[in-house]
Amino acid sequence: MLNIGEIAEQPAPAMAGDGPEKLSARRTSRFRKYRKVAAARMLLEKSPTGKALLKLARHLKITIVPDPQLKTAGVFYPGENKIAINPSHSAADMATTLVHELRHAWQDQHEISEGPTLTPRDYILMVRATEADSEAISVLVGWELKQAGHGEVLAAHLESSYGDISRKFLNEMAASGNLKMALRSAYDQWFAKHGRIDGYNSDGIRNMEERLDDHIDAMRAKEVFPLSNSELHRLGEMPLGGNYLNTRPSRNLLSPEYRAHISPAHEKRLCDLEIQIGLRKPPPPPRPLFTPPYRPMPR
Ligand SMILES: [Zn+2]
Repeated sequence: MLNIGEIAEQPAPAMAGDGPEKLSARRTSRFRKYRKVAAARMLLEKSPTGKALLKLARHLKITIVPDPQLKTAGVFYPGENKIAINPSHSAADMATTLVHELRHAWQDQHEISEGPTLTPRDYILMVRATEADSEAISVLVGWELKQAGHGEVLAAHLESSYGDISRKFLNEMAASGNLKMALRSAYDQWFAKHGRIDGYNSDGIRNMEERLDDHIDAMRAKEVFPLSNSELHRLGEMPLGGNYLNTRPSRNLLSPEYRAHISPAHEKRLCDLEIQIGLRKPPPPPRPLFTPPYRPMPR
């Protein structure tokens, strides 16, 4: 894992024309970025679940770095074993983002993630399910931090565009006091906002289009299998034990509610992908319009 102190000490590369003041300013800003990531990590250490996720990151030798160029709050790069966090956000938001991305790392380690061995529609469901799970675990850590005297993380989540999820979690906690049921309702709530779903459909479809050859190869090698309910259930394993997706009564994780809300434009691109991969027959060419032979009308 990245040693924050060491990196912060490294001077930024010198550029022609840089005076000592400029170098020093760059060094300071670089140090500030790493310090913000280190602060988010220190905050997570105060939550039992956050602590367990950081322990896993150390075990997997995952590098956690700030990246001010990110268009999103954070990213987990499975191939590079790296998490990048946008340091322009508040410390509370960065802590939530870090949990979210650490959970993606856990999903990747347990091979519960989207890939070419899934059909395009199962791929979309897997993207949604892993996002819903990452967000539910982020809320859990926010809630644990509140118990430890750091209510600012959960408060920031409630104010964010994902606030409906933390609100649902808190409502269920107030009603039943059952942590697993609260997490399950947070998971389910992820699927309730159509705008959120649409954005992730878009990302998922674009990823499949960019890696079309991998999907075609997997299909040819007969390595595409339908997603099962039990496979998705593994997502609910909590870092400190137990499974929040095993609550009763429980909706089947493959049920149509979890697959709903695909825009006509996305539906068309999904059908095209299915045709290109070989899961769907191309539509027959349009038949020429029938034109009746010309017969002069009798006068
Ligand atoms: Zn995510």
